[in-house]
Amino acid sequence: AKKQNGSSCCFFQPSMRVDLNRRLVIEKSLSGNVKELGFYFVVQPQINCDTGELVGVEVLSRWNHPTLGPISPIEFITIAEETGTISNLTNCLLKDVFSFINCTKNQGDIFPKTAINVTASLLSSKTFFKELFLLMEQNQISSEQIEIEITESVELTYSEITLANLITCQSKGISIALDDFGTGFSMLSYLMDYPIDKIKLDKSFVSKIGQDEKSEAVLKSLIQFVKGVGCTLLAEGVETQEESLFLQANGCPIHQGYFHDKPLLPKDFLTKYIGVSNQ
Ligand code: C2E
Ligand code: CA
Ligand code: CA
Ligand code: CA
Repeated sequence: AKKQNGSSCCFFQPSMRVDLNRRLVIEKSLSGNVKELGFYFVVQPQINCDTGELVGVEVLSRWNHPTLGPISPIEFITIAEETGTISNLTNCLLKDVFSFINCTKNQGDIFPKTAINVTASLLSSKTFFKELFLLMEQNQISSEQIEIEITESVELTYSEITLANLITCQSKGISIALDDFGTGFSMLSYLMDYPIDKIKLDKSFVSKIGQDEKSEAVLKSLIQFVKGVGCTLLAEGVETQEESLFLQANGCPIHQGYFHDKPLLPKDFLTKYIGVSNQ
């Protein structure tokens, strides 16, 4: 039986109205011209600590909305995925990322491999990859420059189309990274079902370094496991020198995280890493 005056019979509270409004504003903005509404991206370096070399960058979306202010990518990506506007958003992002990659071309600089997050609905889309390949061709982006990050944090159910898409990517030379490894629903089945080149070890494992021995043992075993599977390994969310040294000492030298660098605006990245200052 329901309480007569408890919160259980109050289906619509003012705070819910605020949430609903917020969601509606985000939804509406997502179907418009997101670039004019404060959508942009940053890039975070990936460093090989054994060599000091910059091995890649991950593209991360940002949104400074005109009325809502900064919105977390978790929030707007989830809404975009649910409402079907993720392809618009990702295509808009790709265009900007490709011109960013190309802006150093005439200087003859080699741009590092650039990783782009692709959600489950796009992975199983028949049109998304066609558009991606077309955009790459139009912008003269070679396949070796691009990495696709697939995440298991949202349940990625097995799909024949996803498999076919990933095989096509790989055969062209685009690499596939499995994101947030260790946190998802069935990490081993993705690894067996899909062609994976790189594993991104989730930051939850990294943050336990120096805190508890059992977690360190799990981490060491995971590093050996990934080696055995033959994938490239990267540790995410490396925040301290202690974490970085531990990972390096245990056979995982490629790191992404605040200890090495935070996500940077493209112009700042170019100045700092590529030596281009005229952006
Ligand atoms: P992710 O793909 O796992 O990206 C890594 C997240 O960790 C980023 O959060 C990054 O800013 C953050 N990070 C980097 N280094 C550190 C560190 O040392 N410590 C900690 N605590 N965090 C660190 P961000 O940018 O807020 O993005 C959150 C998530 O939103 C991403 O997680 C990704 O799943 C999603 N996302 C962001 N941009 C895009 C996009 O363009 N497309 C799609 N589909 N998803 C995106
Ligand atoms: Ca990612
Ligand atoms: Ca991740
Ligand atoms: Ca930590």
